Amino acid sequence: MPTALDAHLAAVRACRRCPGMVPPPIVGRPIQSRVYLVGQAPGPREGALGRPFAWTAGRTMFGWFAALGLDEEAFRARVYIAAVCRCFPGKANGGGDRVPSPAEISNCSGWMDAELALLDPQLILPVGRLAIARFLPPAPLEQLVGRVWQVEVGGRVRDVLPLPHPSGASTWFRMEPGRTRLIEALRLLGEHAEWRELLDR
Ligand code: SF4
Repeated sequence: MPTALDAHLAAVRACRRCPGMVPPPIVGRPIQSRVYLVGQAPGPREGALGRPFAWTAGRTMFGWFAALGLDEEAFRARVYIAAVCRCFPGKANGGGDRVPSPAEISNCSGWMDAELALLDPQLILPVGRLAIARFLPPAPLEQLVGRVWQVEVGGRVRDVLPLPHPSGASTWFRMEPGRTRLIEALRLLGEHAEWRELLDR
């Protein structure tokens, strides 16, 4: 029997609200989890591969989590993976992926609101500046990454642990101070009660 999460993900897959986005919407698995990871938007490969973080950025990110005890398959099976925008935005004139417009982010935010209501996660992991901006006020990344923030989200206080975007195009987390901030963020994640609970499943 389909669950409320199955129905939700079917509705997301069918969404075509943004004319400038490249369908299909990319969704993760219907995992009832207290840990909620939010990426930015899928890249050009995810549509064919049919899952979020399916290419090189995902390999880097899942490597971080594997070092904390959860390999990619275990992570995908235990953590709900969302995104600020669920469709590939297409390429920008400069060659990188286009940054979604405020209207597109607003269009897609209803899916996240619905998931927060369905899952009621205690720990939120926003990955990348666009996702971090959904939960935390504007500030340089080095002031945001490497801390656990208590933030009121969806009517109650939750832990928000921001991570940098693992894209190969990003140098932030490979150089100081980003490298040390990422190490600290992953240390805090590994010690978090919700992460420890994931490991025990
Ligand atoms: S980006 Fe979000 S709101 Fe826009 S079409 Fe894709 S799923 Fe729908």
